[in-house]
Amino acid sequence: RGGQKQREVPFAQPDSLTRVYAVASGKGGVGKSSVTANLAAAMAADGVTVGLVDADIYGHSAPRMLGAEGSRPTVVDDMIMPVPAHDVKLISTEMFKPDRDTPVAWRGPMLHRALQQFLTDVFWGDLDVLLLDLPPGTGDVAISLAQLMPNAEIVVVSTPQLAAAEVAERAGAIAIQTHQQVAGVIENMSYMPCPHCGPEHRLDLFGSGGGRQVAQGLSRRLGADVPLLGEIPLDIGLRESGDLGTPFVLKDPEAPASAAMHDIARQL
Ligand code: ADP
Repeated sequence: RGGQKQREVPFAQPDSLTRVYAVASGKGGVGKSSVTANLAAAMAADGVTVGLVDADIYGHSAPRMLGAEGSRPTVVDDMIMPVPAHDVKLISTEMFKPDRDTPVAWRGPMLHRALQQFLTDVFWGDLDVLLLDLPPGTGDVAISLAQLMPNAEIVVVSTPQLAAAEVAERAGAIAIQTHQQVAGVIENMSYMPCPHCGPEHRLDLFGSGGGRQVAQGLSRRLGADVPLLGEIPLDIGLRESGDLGTPFVLKDPEAPASAAMHDIARQL
């Protein structure tokens, strides 16, 4: 490429101290992006230096959830500066679209190059943790990521629904082919605290047991202990604050959903 030297992925170097987690899900709508954005904000609030790559190419929502929608990164000395959002260093495909209504229609090789750029041409500095919000399913991005950063551990988000759990388990099982580790499973939308009888009464809107089933299934398939990292309840406030651009863990840190996120963040 015209003498232009390809930079190496800093996080994939043997001496890298950054822990890398790719957050995956079987299908969309299970709260993968909400969980990732809140985990990042919770880590930052704990004083962890955290970067977030929103690689959910088609459904990028991290900028909105972190109040950075429409932000454009600046370029300094040939390096892209991540956008600071609630103390999280953020890079998203949304930031590279000409305008918000243009859909991203990239094929595998372009996705790979984009991801590579996010990892090599962005000035991340020294990070304790790098989180990646993957598109749902087991597509090109997950494979590219495994090639670029084989050390990235996978975190699987599922709902309690057993049908959803099967799909989530398959998303995590990609780790067998890519020789990656699975750091754990997060069950989101676990239950709804009853608005009438009080929070002790839990409504299992989406059934129960999905997260545990995914963790057990992946432990069996990988021959390693894959823990259930936590169960995050449904909370209308979580949805609202995501829409308004302040992560729920910062807006209402005492809420059970926030407490669950903080607890999971401290395990990673
Ligand atoms: P995904 O990234 O898996 O597609 P999102 O994070 O975009 O899912 O979440 C889908 C929708 O569900 C969003 O409107 C989000 O605000 C909402 N949501 C996610 N988790 C919760 C929760 N625990 N309680 C209430 N709403 C939630």
